Amino acid sequence: MPFLGGSALKEAYRRAQRGGYAYMANNIAEPNTLLGLLDAYTEAKSDLVVQISPGAAKYAGGGDKLAGLRALSGLISVLAVNRPIGVFINLDHFTTQELALMDVAIRERLVSSIMIDASAESFEANIRASAEVVRMAKGSGILVEAELGKIRGVEDEISSDEAFYTHPDEAVEFVRASGADLLAIAIGTEHGVSKGRKIELRVDLAKAIQAKLHEAGLDTPLVLHGSSGLLPGQVRDAIRYGVCKLNKDTHYQYVYSRAACEFYLKNSRAIMPPDGVEDDIVDLFSKSDWSPDKKLFDPRVAGKLVQEKIKWIAGELLAQGSSGGHANPSGESDSSTAKR
Ligand SMILES: [Zn+2]
Repeated sequence: MPFLGGSALKEAYRRAQRGGYAYMANNIAEPNTLLGLLDAYTEAKSDLVVQISPGAAKYAGGGDKLAGLRALSGLISVLAVNRPIGVFINLDHFTTQELALMDVAIRERLVSSIMIDASAESFEANIRASAEVVRMAKGSGILVEAELGKIRGVEDEISSDEAFYTHPDEAVEFVRASGADLLAIAIGTEHGVSKGRKIELRVDLAKAIQAKLHEAGLDTPLVLHGSSGLLPGQVRDAIRYGVCKLNKDTHYQYVYSRAACEFYLKNSRAIMPPDGVEDDIVDLFSKSDWSPDKKLFDPRVAGKLVQEKIKWIAGELLAQGSSGGHANPSGESDSSTAKR
């Protein structure tokens, strides 16, 4: 299937709420991570949520965020076509600085959902900014995720030294006033490398937020950011209280670099010139008897290993969310399915 639009994603989250499972939302910035994810999710028969942050768009576009966004969205879309799973694209941590970019993403149907992160602003300004993106997305079917509370740590271009927990009563007012489809809550997770055993995860807060929303007639799916490093029991607790989406970025970054690091350490002698050989990269060692081994320095060799390791960790993580076996690739009935 080509990647699917917001209506199909809304339905996927609704099924997850009913079925008691959640989607890991997985950040990518280049093809190796994406290919590993597609393999893992296809094998597990799970729908796949792929995320693009402003920093990833900037990276992929060589500094041009819009070019990078179009390139990554196109790459995901093309590679998703032959996969028997639903593939969705979410914009992760877009801020009020990127309203024009979000507008293009909506008009060109580059994504299934958008996260507007105005959580650094005041409560009122956060509502205004989130409502503005909801208004922009109106009629497109594209879902809007907004964040209330602050998540400590550094993620991409967003960083916060402080954590502010989401208040359950404010959550209801915020969702009502902003019209957001999904609500990212702060209950103690941290962006970046966090130690699950050291996190005091306030599942009681998630439970209270879910209950208050439900009382108000809102069954808004909850989102947990900074989920890398959460223990499986913590993930299960979060899902029990309405979390349908858990963001994962840092974990893949580590596994990516770990796989590459192991490969290059092991094969350094086939790639680095030994002592006594002139380090003549410009002439590619043509004056020396020694040559580097093309079978090992071709970046696709390490890249393939990276893909396999990403596939492995993605399989482990999606199993924690229990989204396997629930794939629903039938996007035809979805009126907002991206037209490509
Ligand atoms: Zn985040």
